[in-house]
Amino acid sequence: MVHNLIILGSGCAGSTAAIYSARAGLSPLILEGPEPGGQLTVTTEVENFPGFPEGITGADLVDLMRKQAERFGAKYLPQAATFADLSSNPFLIKAGDAEYRSRALIVATGASARYLGLESERRLLGRGVSICATCDGPFFRDVPVVVVGGGDSAFEEANFLTRFASRVYIVHRRDQLRASKIMVDRAKTNPKINFLLDMAVSDILDNGKNEVTGVLLKNMKTGVETAIDTNGVFIAIGRVPNTKIFEGQLELKNNYIVVRDGSRTNIKGVFAAGDVHDHIYRQAITAAGSGCQAALDAQHFLEE
Ligand code: NAP
Repeated sequence: MVHNLIILGSGCAGSTAAIYSARAGLSPLILEGPEPGGQLTVTTEVENFPGFPEGITGADLVDLMRKQAERFGAKYLPQAATFADLSSNPFLIKAGDAEYRSRALIVATGASARYLGLESERRLLGRGVSICATCDGPFFRDVPVVVVGGGDSAFEEANFLTRFASRVYIVHRRDQLRASKIMVDRAKTNPKINFLLDMAVSDILDNGKNEVTGVLLKNMKTGVETAIDTNGVFIAIGRVPNTKIFEGQLELKNNYIVVRDGSRTNIKGVFAAGDVHDHIYRQAITAAGSGCQAALDAQHFLEE
């Protein structure tokens, strides 16, 4: 069977593309990906998505989008694409043993957590090292935790973690913060949050216990190393786009898909939406907007 349209990814971009294309009668098939619902499912409160004056949790927001798409006939499968052959149309997508063919393809595979690259970070992942405060925060009641990063994600995680932790250290490698003023101001007035600026995590310590007991921090200006006690290390240093299976096929720049003329990629019939191509805005609302663009572009392509 050849589908009209396959959408890879079920975050804001994928589900908005699903709403538009399902409503246009294209019966899209959505392969949800390894993180169904995308990055919003691991965020806390979303306060800046228009239409929700009281805010909404990220998980609820993507859930509502999915229900809206399903209402118009979009079909979601709990599968992740593992292989793509875009050399001829219909395109071939494999998800494990399953094979799918489609005339048009929207890539909305988003981005995944970036890691520091320390051996101890990998080894202690799930043993005190986390990339998701929403998921793991409640495990760190009345103990000190560290959040690494200087962007909005780090500040959002830090703010959320103050609900549980006795103290939250924000560790950032520079003294300039990337996070928005409102987030920084909120953190500065939170008595549980401490800033450790110009500091890089040089190691995560376990004291032979196979769970986090501290971090070794290096002062970026003086080179002096200091250890601090902590039971949790939350890594919030940004994301990398999920484009591995498209290497050598789609035009990429710094691993992001290059789009021109709306959502069009270098391959006719293949469109990109959301964080997989957007390295600038990376917001839920811009991802939703680009999902809409991709659906409309795919619709025009199929009509042609
Ligand atoms: P980001 O803005 O790219 O910030 C990443 C931070 O991690 C930067 O401070 C960076 O340091 C640091 N970093 C990167 N690699 C590092 C490394 N190897 N070691 C140590 N530190 C490292 O990423 P983000 O915070 O995930 O935000 C991404 C986008 O989502 C932004 O557009 C943001 O506005 C948006 N966002 C919005 C909200 C919201 O509005 N509620 C919440 C979360 C995210 P440098 O500054 O030195 O480069």
